[in-house]
Amino acid sequence: MTRTIRAARGAEKTAKSWGAEAAKRMLMNNLDPEVAEHPDDLVVYGGTGRAARSWEAFDAIVRTLDELEPDETLLVQSGKPVGVFRTHEWAPRVLIANSNLVGDWATWPEFRRLEHLGLTMYGQMTAGSWIYIGTQGILQGTYETFAAVARSIGRDDLAGTLTLTGGAGGMGGAQPLAVTMNGGAVIVVDVDESRLARRVAHGYLDEYTADLDAAVARALAAKDAGEALSVGVVGNAAEVFPELLARGIPIDIVTDQTSAHDPLAYLPIDVPFDRWKDEAAADPDGFTERARASMARHVDAMVGFQDAGAAVFDYGNSLRREAELGGCERAFAFPGFVPAYIRPLFAEGKGPFRWVALSGDPEDIAKTDRAVAELFPEDTALHRWLEKAGEQVHFEGLPARICWLGYKERHLAGLKFNEMVASGELSGPIVIGRDHLDAGSVASPYRETEAMADGSDAIADWPLLNALLNTASGAAWVSIHHGGGVGIGRSIHAGQVTVADGSALAAEKLARVLVNDPGTGVMRHVDAGYDRAKDVARERGLTVPMLDA
Ligand code: NAD
Repeated sequence: MTRTIRAARGAEKTAKSWGAEAAKRMLMNNLDPEVAEHPDDLVVYGGTGRAARSWEAFDAIVRTLDELEPDETLLVQSGKPVGVFRTHEWAPRVLIANSNLVGDWATWPEFRRLEHLGLTMYGQMTAGSWIYIGTQGILQGTYETFAAVARSIGRDDLAGTLTLTGGAGGMGGAQPLAVTMNGGAVIVVDVDESRLARRVAHGYLDEYTADLDAAVARALAAKDAGEALSVGVVGNAAEVFPELLARGIPIDIVTDQTSAHDPLAYLPIDVPFDRWKDEAAADPDGFTERARASMARHVDAMVGFQDAGAAVFDYGNSLRREAELGGCERAFAFPGFVPAYIRPLFAEGKGPFRWVALSGDPEDIAKTDRAVAELFPEDTALHRWLEKAGEQVHFEGLPARICWLGYKERHLAGLKFNEMVASGELSGPIVIGRDHLDAGSVASPYRETEAMADGSDAIADWPLLNALLNTASGAAWVSIHHGGGVGIGRSIHAGQVTVADGSALAAEKLARVLVNDPGTGVMRHVDAGYDRAKDVARERGLTVPMLDA
């Protein structure tokens, strides 16, 4: 069935509270064709990350949100609305649990069996929790990660360097723009030409070609001239990466963001593109083996680039583990991006804070950008980001912005936005959320919690505490998911969204949620023994009972 979904815009609501209206608009925004990678299948991004289990479930969620009283809470189980309960005004309007399985059953084959029976869906991180904002959602994180890579190789920026990566999907598509924003040249390889064309149309990629020689020539010319340029190549990363290594192309940085977390969403080299879905469905086990064998070649080449002197890192898609299962012995020779570049930010509760203008008016985002810049006058990296984002980010769906803020920072922005809604300076409420990839909201040993100082990588109590606390603090919707980013069996994570509707009650809720939520990130890193987190707790007044133990 083909349906075109687009969220309502403006300051008039059809639901009975802004919490319910915001949840409904954000669910719809996730499925807007400008936003979702494959909206007909309800797939938002990240392989098969869905917003609702079926169209029937989608319609039932929308209907229920319109009827929901301001003191009721809707429960959603893996994309299906399953109950409405009387709670109170401070309670979330929606509580969501997606893709969760009991430990011994947490495998892809069992998940797929249950999905096939219509009992569950893959929620990824922000797909099933209705706070995806298109490719911009990962852009600042990717931009800052590449800036950190530049520093790690002794450079101020990426001018004069060439980066090689794979995957130009919903999230991976941010990579080319993140590299060019840092001044570098980049080749991004994707098997699906339509994804490369979409990134060009949305301003995330400069150009693409199916001719590898032409792409290499263009990218090397840009590298030599110190110019920023992104070039897409239609091809399979498991073929193109080894080919470029064998040719001795002088590549400085290598990473990847194909949807490797799900072997059925990674195309093996011996399967033609147009046979992908059919072959994966006909023989998932055999397809998994072939995908892993290709991933082993792909990662072997990445290790080869590292041996040749390139900076190489895993960009959060479980590629190393899948390659290891495919027989690559040195798959973990290069690090994940969190221990390599992001952990110090997490220790300050810093993570991907994002907001969306329900008015639909881009001017509202321009005004909030200016407000955030004024709130943090000393933060030059933030100013640089907001300026670049204002100039270069094309909105997909409802206008939105991302920027990384930490503990005792996020609520300042939230409260300011609420005042701006109340005064009429903004033309509608602002939805404030974040990725599940945040300081205190995820347990994921191949990504966010890889190589924790105390070895607590797989402890999953932390995201559950985060979700419970956000529920107790006044979030508009809260979610607990399994598997997002890295695949079934490999992560547990939580999300929260709040709404600045200009009311006094919203201000009370924002003041709690936007302090407590990043506070769990500081708490988690204090507990793991990070000195920076202990300093932040002391300096910014977070009570951790055994801080000095
Ligand atoms: P997506 O499904 O939208 O896109 C994946 C892309 O990979 C598709 O365009 C597909 O054609 C391409 N692809 C598949 N096999 C390929 C191959 N062999 N060679 C070349 N291209 C191939 O997924 P996405 O939203 O872009 O996410 C990509 C990955 O990153 C996922 O594993 C996701 O879980 C992970 N992720 C990481 C972060 C992070 O912060 N680092 C955040 C979100 C998602």
